[in-house]
Amino acid sequence: MKVVIVGGGIGGMSLALSLVAAGMDDVDVYESAPGIRELGVGINVMPHAIRELTELDLLDQLSAVGIPTADFSYFSRLGQRIWEEPLGMAAGYRWPQFSIHRGELLGVLHRAVVDRLGGHRVHAGHHLSRFEQQPDHGVWAEFVDRETKAVVSRAEADLLVGCDGIHSVVRRALFPAEGPPKWNGVVMWRGVTIARPFLSGRSMVNIGSSRQRAVVYPISTAHEERGQALINWVATLKVASAPGMPAQDWTQVARQEEVLAAFASFSFDFLDVAALIRDAEVIYQYPIADRDPLVSWDFGRVTLLGDAAHPMHPVGGNGASQAILDARVLARELVLRGSIESAVGAYEGERRRATAAVVESNRRAGPHRCQDLVEERAPDGFERLDEVVSQQELQEIADEYKQIAGFEIGKLNNRPSLSVRLATA
Ligand SMILES: Cc1cc2nc3c(=O)[nH]c(=O)nc-3n(C[C@H](O)[C@H](O)[C@H](O)COP(=O)(O)OP(=O)(O)OC[C@H]3O[C@@H](n4cnc5c(N)ncnc54)[C@H](O)[C@@H]3O)c2cc1C
Repeated sequence: MKVVIVGGGIGGMSLALSLVAAGMDDVDVYESAPGIRELGVGINVMPHAIRELTELDLLDQLSAVGIPTADFSYFSRLGQRIWEEPLGMAAGYRWPQFSIHRGELLGVLHRAVVDRLGGHRVHAGHHLSRFEQQPDHGVWAEFVDRETKAVVSRAEADLLVGCDGIHSVVRRALFPAEGPPKWNGVVMWRGVTIARPFLSGRSMVNIGSSRQRAVVYPISTAHEERGQALINWVATLKVASAPGMPAQDWTQVARQEEVLAAFASFSFDFLDVAALIRDAEVIYQYPIADRDPLVSWDFGRVTLLGDAAHPMHPVGGNGASQAILDARVLARELVLRGSIESAVGAYEGERRRATAAVVESNRRAGPHRCQDLVEERAPDGFERLDEVVSQQELQEIADEYKQIAGFEIGKLNNRPSLSVRLATA
């Protein structure tokens, strides 16, 4: 079976590795960018996805670069703690949660693809321009140079998987009337800053509410070994109501004074967010946007995966994690089912509604909802938290999100592996 993967991001690379592990190696990855560039800032990969990457034999490589985040706290905008819980193995999962530079994560995946599949199977500088399913069930695809628009190659396959992100060309061809992503009026500023470790040294904190928040965590083992922390921070601010979305460009640089002015009050005894912003070398700006869940990903020999299928607000570390899960489930179904069409149907049956629930929960702030409750009920702060919100209510919010996103501890630890292998492989 020949598989064409469109997009060499986290989802596309994870799919290539999942297919090879399942015994399918006639696989090509086509990436629009001129090289597999290790772009981005910090990203979280949750235990449900780390389980999959562990089963793809990548745990050592991830451990060498990412931080196994150990604990998490919600604070109000006034710096009052609302919730704290252990994360990853400290919480009892059999797999860690990693906070990692997106570029390093992509680097780990890309190197593994090159080792296991061969560098000649990764085609950078190949932007999908069009594709078509043939009456004999094959699919052809045409690729162009993104800048010059010149055709660079054409490929034929038994299955084409659109892993081409939130601006997916594959999705647009399948749903031409959909229009652009939906902005929620929140702008996100992101940076990394070298600083002293804070709290446990492997802590993640989330301060504020849906109107204004900072999410901060360290992302580098190399810095930790030197007694420092490479701290990833995300500062979000509700600036407008949609439409009028700013550019969706991961390399768009923000004005530091603007971010500092908005977050000057975010300076607390446990963490000085304003200082992190001031000391960052560069700050990137990106709007928080998603798309409505789709009615189908099942197009016979064509389907979608990751952000192409279900772009979501960056809440709860699920963008990359859900893409990795999609990849593993699609590879499993291609092994288990009698035909490609039935495998694609089974894949969408398992993953489409599951990820739609995460998209919808993230629109309602997912687990961050607890901060909005406190902000609403006690805008000037509180003497005693239990007079504002009960532990039970907080626990229910945290548990509900784990259930929706598929990482309840007991279920994840005990469910069967997704690993399978073709009998003939
Ligand atoms: C440059 C970049 C930086 C990012 N930085 C962060 C970050 O710092 N933090 C964070 O939480 N998330 C970041 N993300 C998003 C995050 O990686 C995804 O939300 C998540 O990992 C899901 O991955 P994905 O593979 O589905 O999509 P993506 O990671 O978006 O990957 C899609 C890939 O498809 C390629 N592509 C697009 N169109 C075509 C086409 N027509 N033909 C061929 N290839 C195509 C893109 O170049 C990209 O490599 C970033 C994404 C990108 C592309």
